[in-house]
Order: sequence, then C-alpha cells, then structure tokens
Amino acid sequence: MKVLTVIGARPQFIKAAVVSRAFAEHGSSITEVLVHTGQHYDANMSDIFFEELEIPRPDYNLAIGGGTHGQNTGRMIEKLEELMIQEKPDWVLVYGDTDSTLAGALAAVKLHIPIAHVEAGLRSFNRKMPEEINRVMTDHISTMLFAPTGVALKHLEKEGVGSEKIHVVGDVMCDATHYYKSRAQKPAWFDGLGLQTNQFALCTIHRAENTDSPTRMKDIFKGLQLAELPIILPLHPRTRSKLKQSMLAIPGNVHVVDPLGYLEMNWLEANCKLICTDSGGVQKEAYFHGKACVTLRDETEWVELVDRGVNVIVGASPELIAGAMKLNQKLNFDDPLYGDGRSAAKIVDLLLNRSSVNS
Ligand code: UDP
Repeated sequence: MKVLTVIGARPQFIKAAVVSRAFAEHGSSITEVLVHTGQHYDANMSDIFFEELEIPRPDYNLAIGGGTHGQNTGRMIEKLEELMIQEKPDWVLVYGDTDSTLAGALAAVKLHIPIAHVEAGLRSFNRKMPEEINRVMTDHISTMLFAPTGVALKHLEKEGVGSEKIHVVGDVMCDATHYYKSRAQKPAWFDGLGLQTNQFALCTIHRAENTDSPTRMKDIFKGLQLAELPIILPLHPRTRSKLKQSMLAIPGNVHVVDPLGYLEMNWLEANCKLICTDSGGVQKEAYFHGKACVTLRDETEWVELVDRGVNVIVGASPELIAGAMKLNQKLNFDDPLYGDGRSAAKIVDLLLNRSSVNS
C-alpha cells in the first residue's frame, strides 16, 4: 500500500509523527511518501518538530507559504496534483483543517485517488473560520473519515456522510501526548523567570479571529492582566507580527517567549496551573495533562471538554477571562475522552484492511 501524506502546519507534524511511526512498524508492506507543503516554514514552527519527534524527512518540500489563503491553496493544488500523478499513491492522507489539508484533498479527488482524513467531523459551526471551511469540504470528498469522538461521528452522519466511511478511532494527539510524555523538557530559560511549578498559566494565541481583531487582542491582554497570575506566552509568528503592527503593550505579568518545540511545550503543560488558549490541540492537551482550560474563543469543536466542566469558553471578554483564570475548582480528568493512545495503530490497520478489500 502506498500512501501520500500531505502536511504543512505545526499541529499536522505532531499528528503525522505518530501515524508515520505506525506506518513504519508495518515495514515494506506500506510505503509512505511524505509531502511538506511549506505552509509553516520557520525553524521553530517546522524543523524542530521533525527533529524532536523523529518524523522522517519529507520526500518533497513544496515551500509554499506566506501567501493568502487563495494563493497558497491554489499553488499547493497545482504542485500536489503533479506529485500525485507521478507517485500514483493508493491513498492520500490529510490531517485536520488547514489549507494544506484542503489542497491535498482537492488535488486527490479530481484524480480519483481515495482520501483518508484524520480528525474528521470536527465542527465549530462558525463558517467565518477558514478551518471550518477546510474541514467541511475535506470531509465531504473523503473516502475514509477517522473521527476522534462520537460527537464528530454525529456531525458527519447529520451531514449525510455514509456511516460506512466513518471510523471513530480516538485522537492521535492523545497518542502523541502519551508517547512523548517521558521526554518532556524543561525550557532552559524557565528557572530564570523565577516562577514556581503549578503557579503560572500557559497561554497560546494564534486564531485569525483573535489576531486579526485589534479589539479582541486588546481585550484578551486586558483579561490576562486582570488574572494576576504569571503567564508564559509562546508567541506564534502571526500573533507576533499583528502585535507589532498594533503596538499593543504586553502586561507585566505576561512572559513572552518564542514558539516552543513540542517537548518543552509538553513540560510547561504538565507543570502549569492552568492553560489559556485559542488552539484546538492545546485544549485537548490541557485535558491529557489534567489542567483546566480557559478557551479564548466564542465556541469550540471540543465540546465534550466544556460538558465536563474542564474547559470554559470565555471569548475575548476581559472579565470572563480573568474570572475563569481565578477559578479554583476540583475537576475530574479521569475519563478517556479521546481514546486509549492507540489511535494511529487503528488508523493504519483500517487503511490496510480497506486496501486489501479493494485489491
Ligand atoms: N505547540 C508547540 N509549541 C508551541 C505552541 C504549540 O509545540 O509554542 C503544539 C501544541 O503542544 C499542540 C500543537 O502545537 O500539540 C497545537 O498546534 P496549534 O495550536 O498551532 O494549532 P491548532 O491545534 O489550533 O490547530
């Protein structure tokens, strides 16, 4: 079986790390051709993940990044189509909801190559998010849809996706957290900040709905200031450039650092008091590490976390952000909401079974 995998953004490197390892465990019966679109290209947004997570070097790097959604997606489709014609894969594998996901899926479907979509069925029901458009479109042209949760399965069924195409396998990010936990690394600068473990918040901000709105950014930082807790903020390049443009002052309790590798990020997740984020992946990682999550969005795809009371949706309201960050409840993180850490192996087995039925 030959699989052409399309990745391009930070969360996709992390998801692909565990699935590529599961492919490799099958030896020569599976050939994976890894294509990096170049969507994320900075060393600390891309190379570090390949090194730390021991992801095989991409077979192709398309170096397409830095443009608008339309420019990037169009250029990716053109290049990916060429590669798919040349490589003739049995499957095209895409992850999540980025422009690279959609480009891979659109190039494949027109060539009649079956698409496997990991993290299928997620919905925010906010069509202003580029991610929502990418995931809805990808789900509807995929042949095998790997849904992380029962909620995702229900979304797909409601939209008329045939249930024979959908497999609830858990979340590969849960696999990644388990696998790399023992290698978590304290950042070299941590002790210099004079912070105690479990007494600081870890924050990430990168969603366009926040970074592209100077008002929301101002309100979020106001909320972080009101929280009166030391906060570590690894700053995404998009957020950094928007902050520079708006000349917004960073409150004194917020320690801005460069984007981190996965192992340092995991150490901070494991050792913080709570997490405050607009990231999809980091909301789940908060749960894996048993930390409360304050979500800087108006909705989330990971609704089971909100239902459990471990995740509070606060949008960009300074009062709600500060209020939620000051809460000190005892929370329950015991239920395995995202599978047993073997999602990647399940995905690979399902692909192999399906391929043997087809051949
Ligand atoms: N992450 C990281 N370093 C950082 C910030 C995030 O390694 O400085 C990891 C994080 O642990 C998670 C993933 O990146 O595994 C989440 O990616 P991101 O927030 O960029 O995307 P999203 O999950 O929102 O699609």
